[in-house]
Amino acid sequence: MRPLTYSRATDIDDAIALAAANPDSAFLAGGTTEVDLIRAGMSGTRHLVDINDLPLSAVEGGPGGGLLIGALARMSDVARAPSVVRRYPAISQALLLSASQQLRNMASIGGNLRQRTRCAYFRDGVSPCNKREPGSGCAALDGWNRGHAILGTSERCIATHPSDVAVALVALDAVIQTMGPDGERAIPSDDFFLLPGTTPETEQPLARGELIVGIAVPGAPVAARSTYLKFRDRQSYEFALVSVAAALETDDGIVTDVRLALGGVGTKPWRARRAEAALIGGPADEAAFGRAASAELAHAVAREHNAFKIEVTRRAMVRALSHTLKGARP
Ligand SMILES: Cc1cc2nc3c(=O)[nH]c(=O)nc-3n(C[C@H](O)[C@H](O)[C@H](O)COP(=O)(O)OP(=O)(O)OC[C@H]3O[C@@H](n4cnc5c(N)ncnc54)[C@H](O)[C@@H]3O)c2cc1C
Ligand code: SF4
Repeated sequence: MRPLTYSRATDIDDAIALAAANPDSAFLAGGTTEVDLIRAGMSGTRHLVDINDLPLSAVEGGPGGGLLIGALARMSDVARAPSVVRRYPAISQALLLSASQQLRNMASIGGNLRQRTRCAYFRDGVSPCNKREPGSGCAALDGWNRGHAILGTSERCIATHPSDVAVALVALDAVIQTMGPDGERAIPSDDFFLLPGTTPETEQPLARGELIVGIAVPGAPVAARSTYLKFRDRQSYEFALVSVAAALETDDGIVTDVRLALGGVGTKPWRARRAEAALIGGPADEAAFGRAASAELAHAVAREHNAFKIEVTRRAMVRALSHTLKGARP
């Protein structure tokens, strides 16, 4: 049996100090990921710092007409907040298509961003896995890799990032706000998730004891014309095989602003910047959407079982953009 200690932080400074003082500590929010991993013997955590008493649950207006989501806001509360439903539909839809109602009632937004991959080799505790045990190899490269990534992969790791809402947040240029032993930071969400490269064990650029306190989403008008489309093996309670967050503004049939990000196919929530560049200033029609999707996917690297994701992603991108254009839900 492995000893595990627990403390309950009284305020933000206390949480940071408690976590910074314990090398093998982890924050405990809803516990829906951390407790699972501890139970499965998959987490190196020896000390839990419970942050549930911290005043970080608000969903409110941010500077410049934007949105500020507290790190401890529960997924279901964010999904239902009227300002999110009205002005950031992709965020609301991504949350409502995540996990189950019970999990969404418990799970926090901060914890969601830090959840670990669902790669089965990572979670079985015995297969070679560079993310779990650096230098041990990657069983997925030549194994059953149907659910694995086609974008941002390396020879060390091809695991996907499992979060849905992170895809919408990356598309909408959200910024992750942190506080830690060295002060406050504002990290663009696209930089918050790291590519695996040669160090897949490092997933976010956080220091020990650094706490996510909130997520700021800019108030860009295009966000109100956003949507989230998720393809999965069954229609509920399942992670994405392919997902798309899309936001689109047009003027007289010409694309004036567009945001696109992909889930289920990248080693991080994947901002589709090549597709965006191909679309901006051009016609907003299905042919152009298809060409833009192909431009993004030209850089995909498929393995034995996941090549189908390239065509599914292309179709999902076209569908999400077409529905956004019509103002309809996919
Ligand atoms: C069966 C199942 C199905 C799921 N399906 C989906 C799905 O379809 N889509 C999806 O997106 N997610 C899905 N999830 C993941 C779920 O959304 C996450 O488990 C949840 O969001 C994590 O939040 P939490 O508050 O419970 O985090 P915790 O388990 O408390 O923490 C998770 C990690 O984040 C760290 N952490 C927590 N808060 C902070 C903070 N403020 N600052 C820094 N670090 C922090 C913890 O130390 C820990 O390492 C599923 C989970 C399960 C169990
Ligand atoms: S894909 Fe990544 S997480 Fe999965 S076995 Fe390989 S190294 Fe581990």
